[in-house]
Amino acid sequence: MNHSTNTPIAATAEMEHFDVIVIGTGFSGLAVGTALARQGRHSFVLLERASSVGGTWRENTYPGAACDIQSHLYSYSFRQNPSWSRVYATQPEILEYLESTASDEGLLARIRFNTDVTAARWYEEKGRWEVDSTTGTRTANVLVTASGHLSDPKMPSIEGAESFKGEIFHSARWDHAVELTGKRVGVIGTGASAIQIVPEIAKTAAQVTVFQRSAPYIVPREDHVYDVAEKRMFARIPEVAQELRDDLFWGNESRFPQRLGIPDFIDTVARKALSHLRNQVSDERLRAKLTPDYQIGCKRILISNDYYPAVSQEHVNVETAAIGSLHSSGVELVNSESIDLDVIVVATGFEATDLPISHRIYGRSSQLLADHWAEGRGAFDCSTVNGFPNLFVMLGPNTGLGAGSIIHMVESQMQYISSGIDYILDNDVAIEPEPEREERFLEDLEKRALKTVWVNGGCQSWYLHPISGKLSALWPDFMHRFRRENGVFNQSNYVTSDVFEQPHPDAFAAVSS
Ligand code: NAP
Repeated sequence: MNHSTNTPIAATAEMEHFDVIVIGTGFSGLAVGTALARQGRHSFVLLERASSVGGTWRENTYPGAACDIQSHLYSYSFRQNPSWSRVYATQPEILEYLESTASDEGLLARIRFNTDVTAARWYEEKGRWEVDSTTGTRTANVLVTASGHLSDPKMPSIEGAESFKGEIFHSARWDHAVELTGKRVGVIGTGASAIQIVPEIAKTAAQVTVFQRSAPYIVPREDHVYDVAEKRMFARIPEVAQELRDDLFWGNESRFPQRLGIPDFIDTVARKALSHLRNQVSDERLRAKLTPDYQIGCKRILISNDYYPAVSQEHVNVETAAIGSLHSSGVELVNSESIDLDVIVVATGFEATDLPISHRIYGRSSQLLADHWAEGRGAFDCSTVNGFPNLFVMLGPNTGLGAGSIIHMVESQMQYISSGIDYILDNDVAIEPEPEREERFLEDLEKRALKTVWVNGGCQSWYLHPISGKLSALWPDFMHRFRRENGVFNQSNYVTSDVFEQPHPDAFAAVSS
């Protein structure tokens, strides 16, 4: 392997060294932390930029925030929760679940809060990662990024935004100090977040204007509050909860053929969505506005029973003309019409196509991960990248799902990464995927992606890379195949090199708690 030299780090007495550094404490970071702790590993740390755990479930506190995947499936298989209050739990309950995971698994002492990673560099001679953060520099044999792809809000650039005199904030940075009762509120976007927000704020706002660029497909939300007897049964007979989890898993898997555009499957779900629209919206003009113009599944299929009734109300308006600019008292549309607003909620999604953490990771020869991915993102087995030794990427390229629970993907990667970490630490080596294997792997994914509605369904979405046009965010197959193909680490797919130098015990204080 061609080793090049990075600038040597100046080791200081304060610099902590760990076997493993994990960035992030959302669902994926806590999963890796739990795996390491349960294996009895002591030398690892989780770096968290906020002051508490939870990732996207800590950040998204907007009214109506809930999961659109069933909680008995959208939770760790190794920490099943018999007490979910309903089929689709709300944000506070999911956050509480994550907080109790961190605490019960003994992870809190291993988390460095208020620690924003500013740069991570592979230091070739030592075979170590050097991780700079707002609380100092640490080194590690292995770096795991678990910073999520839905963590950094994406704000559209709108002309005149600075002149707006009202309040404006992103859905993932909800300003709870702003009172919406009796106000004129604009909501930009009609994605999964917006359709949960609109029904809630429409209950008290004087006027709500929804700025819709594309109409989403929406199917009924088959929700249900679990009664005491059901919760007791899940707690007393874990096999029943497991059976429910299995049924939910295969129920979600059975939706993947829709994403392949197979006529019977896609027609059935399209009929379901369009009859939901017909049943809930009697006004023909509004129905026309709310009818999507692309193939179902191309964007996320949303679930809601209260969005259509909410936008059918007198004081709620769906505006399809694009926003041209903002002025001091509201919005000017491209058709020159002006709408006065007191508050604007920006529900335009996240920086999911250009992962912010990739702008802070420098691999061999100081190559920036964001540059490596500039023309299109990809990772071998969806977890490792050639040129970035001993780096594992949780929920990186091709790990999102259009139908299913991301927790299944998280746990599959957790298994893979745990074995990879064992191999690295047991043998004191640096590994990276063989470039040809990575290329073949990505070519295969691309072929599979071409068959999906995400690529050929006639819509624009953050699932596609803006430069390559390739499916970079989603896994183009069934969930169970992800685990079979990407859940098992195989060292023979990797280039392995010895790590030449151990950190000097005086230079790196090994910290075990
Ligand atoms: P999103 O799905 O990316 O939707 C963003 C919305 O904003 C879309 O309607 C988009 O229109 C619109 N938009 C973006 N930029 C715009 C611009 N410059 N001008 C006008 N409109 C603009 O974002 P999200 O709703 O926050 O959801 C993001 C992801 O989070 C989801 O896909 C899902 O994975 C996850 N999520 C999950 C849940 C859950 O229940 N599990 C809840 C919320 C979010 P176009 O469609 O035309 O691009």
